[in-house]
Amino acid sequence: MTDARIAGLRARMREHALDALLVTSLADIRYLTGFSGSNALVVLTTGDAFFVSDSRYALQSAREVKKFRRLIGSRGLLEDAAAAKMLRGCRVAGFESDALTYAQYRSLRRLFPRVRFRPTSGMVAGLAIVKDRQEVACIEEAAAISDHVFHEILKSIRPGVTELEIAAEISWLNRRRGAESDAFDVIVASGPRGALPHARPTVRKMRKGEFILLDFGSTMRGYSSDLTRTVALGAVPRRMREAYRAVLEANETATASARGGINASVLDAVARECIRRRGFGRYFTHSLGHGLGLRVHERPRVSALSRDVLQSGSVITIEPGVYIPGSGGVRIEDDVLLGDGGCRVLTRSPRELIVL
Ligand code: ZN
Ligand code: ZN
Repeated sequence: MTDARIAGLRARMREHALDALLVTSLADIRYLTGFSGSNALVVLTTGDAFFVSDSRYALQSAREVKKFRRLIGSRGLLEDAAAAKMLRGCRVAGFESDALTYAQYRSLRRLFPRVRFRPTSGMVAGLAIVKDRQEVACIEEAAAISDHVFHEILKSIRPGVTELEIAAEISWLNRRRGAESDAFDVIVASGPRGALPHARPTVRKMRKGEFILLDFGSTMRGYSSDLTRTVALGAVPRRMREAYRAVLEANETATASARGGINASVLDAVARECIRRRGFGRYFTHSLGHGLGLRVHERPRVSALSRDVLQSGSVITIEPGVYIPGSGGVRIEDDVLLGDGGCRVLTRSPRELIVL
């Protein structure tokens, strides 16, 4: 696995005429090496593969990182790489421009005065678009935990309970069920606050007649799930029920159309058209979904503006939503594995409206 990934990255380096590539994003480093700690650098040259970390990770990296020459340093990652002359003989080295700070860039220029540095983008992330069996298994496990958490949390949602209490319980259930962590900050939005697609939970108490929107994920061996369900607390106004129907239809229609080979923008349009036909078009204000893996948001982009063609073996989210200012919001989000003739839905929580 690691060998194939290193070979894939070297092929990309050749395409970009790079003698070396510095990888500084922890998600990318985990993908390449299996390292799950919080401080590391990978330097890949045409002939060598180096991994640098600090003494806190000496034991852990010895266990996790197999195919790299490991260096446990003490000066700082870039300084350690320079002292070990990792870029000896390299003329042009790439760095991932969205994962390096300006201060680090200045250090690079100072530490390696003879090397020309060239910004690159998505060198590792591009390899990770298509998942292998192990990666899919991790996401499936994470999705199963999220499904369980959703099932359990329904017992706690009632009038008078706060968004923060529900959010805390979701995090607790996640850990209790064996997730490494929440995949991202839990979103719990009640009533009119549901109109904020990424609402932070507050001390607001839930009331009868409201929609409650829950968006959370679980992380297993670095891989994340991402699940949204919207439930009703008692009878909700007719317009909100109609919004739910529109979003449900969009979710189901897009899921039925999702497969390798379809343009991401076409899939987005399939969902958007369902919502538009039911009169809520202007309230679907974000893109249909995103790639899911070691990062909660990764390639491919699944939006109206995306130029990506979806590939068999990618895991994406399908998450249409309707957000009506002053009234509330509905989102139904699933994670799906794309195949040649369709997709497999990894999140199995019921999609039909649940009235508590
Ligand atoms: Zn989500
Ligand atoms: Zn999502």
